[in-house]
Amino acid sequence: ATPIAIMVGTGRGAELGVLIKRIETLERTKQITTVVFDKTGTLTHGEMTITDIVAAEGGDDNEVLRRAGAVEAGSEHPIGRALAAVAAQRLGELPTAHGFDAPTGQGVRADVDGTTVLVGRRSWLVEQGMTVPEEVEEAILRLEDDGKTVVLAGWQGRVRGAVAMADTVKDNAAATIAELHDIGMSVAMLTGDNSRTAEAIARTVGIDRVLAEVHPGDKRAEIERLQSEGAVVAMVGDGINDAPALVQADLGIAIGTGTDVAIESSDITLMRSDLHGVPQSIRLARRTYRTIQ
Ligand code: ADP
Ligand code: MG
Repeated sequence: ATPIAIMVGTGRGAELGVLIKRIETLERTKQITTVVFDKTGTLTHGEMTITDIVAAEGGDDNEVLRRAGAVEAGSEHPIGRALAAVAAQRLGELPTAHGFDAPTGQGVRADVDGTTVLVGRRSWLVEQGMTVPEEVEEAILRLEDDGKTVVLAGWQGRVRGAVAMADTVKDNAAATIAELHDIGMSVAMLTGDNSRTAEAIARTVGIDRVLAEVHPGDKRAEIERLQSEGAVVAMVGDGINDAPALVQADLGIAIGTGTDVAIESSDITLMRSDLHGVPQSIRLARRTYRTIQ
């Protein structure tokens, strides 16, 4: 009777838009205590809209946008794509950048008009020896408290401006997290983005714990740390960066609209980008195993 009950379980999963790769997965799904969501592209749509451009005193918004856009033209990151598109749309043709380089989870760098321009997270630009003007510093805090992601653009030793962007949280994110709480899960967010932005978004959807400013290479170790604290972890993600964490987790859940690498690294795929499949899978696993035992 056991295999039939499991077949029913996975068949019902398909109906719910949840693809379960191996039947043994369901038993692990039943044990989950903690669900960890990646932020960008998982809890949010991963489509950035530029909301603010703040030039340092004496600078010019368009110059910041022109140089940042030129560097980002070589980027595949949602941040870079949004920035390059807005720059081209507002300013027309952009200068050609040379020597493009993109240190993972930090930002991008290239030469524009003979000057090396950096676009990326604040800590990276500071590490590269750039000073951040006071008025830019203030703008960053204000924008991040609004849940916006802020990247800085700088050249010749100085940050020249900040570009803020907003991503929208998926419609059913808050309802999904409430449902996970109802079935006894603790819920965390794992992101490379800065803490203020992550906390602001976590508040709007009711997430308990925020693991922010985690370098892509360290996402796996964060899952391991939760496991060493006794949690049985389901990780939900969409990106190439999430793959090691999806493998490390007791249960890896990929967003079906995400990257192939994330899907291949997971045990369960949500066929729609709908997060509701996460509590549904846990419920389904519990029901299936109750039937067998
Ligand atoms: P997430 O986990 O939210 O997908 P990433 O690890 O990809 O984030 O990136 C972390 C941070 O690195 C971003 O919030 C941003 O500050 C910076 N960054 C990454 N790629 C770029 C880029 N192309 N342009 C500017 N900043 C970037
Ligand atoms: Mg992501």
